[in-house]
Amino acid sequence: MKIPVLLLFIFTSCQVNTKKEVDLLITNATVYCVDSAFRIHQAIAVHNGRIVNTGTVDEILNQFESENKVDAAGKFIYPGFIDAHCHFYAYGLNLSEIDLTATTSWNEVLDKVKQQASADEWIVGRGWDQNDWAENQFPTNAMLNVLFPGRPVYLSRIDGHAAIASEEALNRAGITTSTVISGGEIGLKEGNLTGLLIDNALALVEKIIPPPSEQKMRQALQAAEKNCFAVGLTSVTEAGLTLDVIKLIQQLHASGELKMRLDVMASDTPENKSYFFTHGPIVSERLTVRAFKFYADGALGSRGALLLQPYADAGTSGLQLRPAEYFEKEAEKCKAAGFQFCMHAIGDSANRMALQLIGKVAGENNPLRWRIEHAQVVNENDIALFGKYNVIPSIQPTHATSDMYWAEARLGGERIQGAYAYQSLLNQNALLAAGSDFPVEHINPLYGFYAAVVRKDQSGYPSSGFQVREALTREQALRAMTNWAAYASFEENNKGSLEPGKFADFVILDQDLMTAPETELFRIKVLAAYVNGEKVY
Ligand SMILES: [Zn+2]
Repeated sequence: MKIPVLLLFIFTSCQVNTKKEVDLLITNATVYCVDSAFRIHQAIAVHNGRIVNTGTVDEILNQFESENKVDAAGKFIYPGFIDAHCHFYAYGLNLSEIDLTATTSWNEVLDKVKQQASADEWIVGRGWDQNDWAENQFPTNAMLNVLFPGRPVYLSRIDGHAAIASEEALNRAGITTSTVISGGEIGLKEGNLTGLLIDNALALVEKIIPPPSEQKMRQALQAAEKNCFAVGLTSVTEAGLTLDVIKLIQQLHASGELKMRLDVMASDTPENKSYFFTHGPIVSERLTVRAFKFYADGALGSRGALLLQPYADAGTSGLQLRPAEYFEKEAEKCKAAGFQFCMHAIGDSANRMALQLIGKVAGENNPLRWRIEHAQVVNENDIALFGKYNVIPSIQPTHATSDMYWAEARLGGERIQGAYAYQSLLNQNALLAAGSDFPVEHINPLYGFYAAVVRKDQSGYPSSGFQVREALTREQALRAMTNWAAYASFEENNKGSLEPGKFADFVILDQDLMTAPETELFRIKVLAAYVNGEKVY
């Protein structure tokens, strides 16, 4: 049909006067933009997956219109939460394994394994913690061998730094009483294997457990995503994956079957290194791989954390998983190939080694944003090195309140003062990144927010807070799980705050994180979560 020129002119001139049509308008909210001024607005306009603007309801409705309007009914909007250190894929896989978290005795563990053992040949479970038991000793595999004769059973501790393996599993892994492993321990009692494995010893068994099928891997990623969206996580930094999982994530992102934004640290494997040091980082909207993860030591709970002085409750000082020269060489390679060097360091000796080698390779005032994961026990003489070498502390606030019951027994009264020292770490670079390390802890980021701000467990213990001088303010804790976490993965221009041009990733909560009573903070409900302007929960 031919349209007369005059009519066409009228049409277009009408359109000039209309408001800009956008994909989504949210009004009647308290919108915490978490920008540099910590602005609070009432409405958001979203188009093509990005924030177009935020402002008062009038400002937004005068500029924009949309067929998709959401009245937030006075509720509270925050940038989508970012978990700066978690094991997203492992968590997803665990959802199909026997869940041993919150067990209160070894007998209860055995009962659960009996009830839930699948028909698969291997029986795999995860999540026990002997520190939660009345008799807080490591178990042995004696009962597993009786209950499951001839079957390989592998039950890992909550932190993934220790495990109990049945006799059959040890046999298949070729572990004998004379096996020695550097950076690991194999439990022996009166000359016999107990089934206990610590740190590097775990891999001996893990490498012979049949790998999950691609179908199972896909289900794991999707199950993890579903649960994470429901608690308001729209981005996660995954602390170590192999290339096959990274490629699967890429595939699922491309087909739209996975929507979670993932910043992935590549694990320290030969395959990852040959691939990424040749191809360079992956930087895309939903997936970035521009970091490598290395383990300096083990964990405090299993006494694998590397300490400058022996444990207060044992004659040992923990485990260094590789020599410093190895890490230094790898750090040089990361620097040359444009990757962040992220080092798991729990003990004060591991942290010192990490800081010194980062200083040596990266130098002072460097722009590399290298990270220490956990930074859990730091000697007072070393804390300034975080500032000097621009090292980002990547911390897990719930570790403080999960470990506080027994950490002093491990460390003694003096050394504990430099542990879980989040405010001191924050002061070094005026930022830190917060995560949960799930599945070591619960996935809910508000548990971390509560622990960071209040430093009590969810029953309110201890009443005055654990080393409360190291608590974060609410604004600091919020930034640590939004824009500082984004900064820690070089993504602050795209996410972590609600500002024009950034991803429309946000959550609607039923209460105000900034003003809700202390005891409400971990009970706050996520009403909705949006990724790229799309409602995903
Ligand atoms: Zn971790």
